[in-house]
Amino acid sequence: MRTRFAPSPTGLLHLGHAFSALTAWDLAQGSGGEFLLRIEDIDGTRCRPEYEAAILDDLRWLGLAWPEPVIRQSERLPLYREALERLRSAGLVYPCTCTRRDIREALAAPQEGASRAAVYPGTCRGRTDLPEDAAWRLDLGRALSLAGPLYFVETGIEAGRHGVDPDGLMEGIGDVVLARRDIGTSYHLAVVIDDALQGITHVVRGMDLFEVTGLHRLLQALLDLPVPVWHHHRLIRDANGRRLAKRDDARAIVRYRADGLAPADLRRMLAHA
Ligand code: GLU
Repeated sequence: MRTRFAPSPTGLLHLGHAFSALTAWDLAQGSGGEFLLRIEDIDGTRCRPEYEAAILDDLRWLGLAWPEPVIRQSERLPLYREALERLRSAGLVYPCTCTRRDIREALAAPQEGASRAAVYPGTCRGRTDLPEDAAWRLDLGRALSLAGPLYFVETGIEAGRHGVDPDGLMEGIGDVVLARRDIGTSYHLAVVIDDALQGITHVVRGMDLFEVTGLHRLLQALLDLPVPVWHHHRLIRDANGRRLAKRDDARAIVRYRADGLAPADLRRMLAHA
């Protein structure tokens, strides 16, 4: 078993991140497997080296260890470009010059409660007059019919075998941006490439990403990538029941450390959170 924790250094780690990292760590430890760390820093406008340093420090404090060197997505852009090129040769992506807002959202892992961009209406699909230095969108309908029926196996809270629902993907995700114009990739493309290249057997992450798993499974089929098992865990919420976000600095691990808590105290809190 090989698991991973894949934070984006856009803020301090909070209790929710600690839960995710510890879940991935415990699963790997429990099976004599390996835990990897990956820094998901494709969004150069929001990522900061000081956050990355703080993340490493917090994770070490929690008692986690990982093989070096740690992979940074910002250093792997040619790999993502190559994958995009393959999709392009297969006629599965098309350039799009529509609103920047949709495109910006493609960089971040979609999170529960975040306002979702409306499903893209396909305006640029089939156009032949567009420049190549545009954003690139997946032609979802075509991709789904090429891939045929797909399923994925989940061992987390929705444990079982899940069929990928084409209608659900068409209505919920649509022709998603796989490559932002300025960076040439997106969260969705980078995450499936790296999980495959790093030999991740169990993708451990929060339940807020459960609904994009069908898309990730589809990308794996299109790119001939090995298929991991997913393990989506519950989300740690604040007193109002909202998923913790980067802005919740009150729950930052550094705060608990400053208050003199030990990692075992944090684990106890998480068990009841
Ligand atoms: N970088 C993503 C995040 O910060 C991780 C998503 C994943 O684990 O697939 O939420």
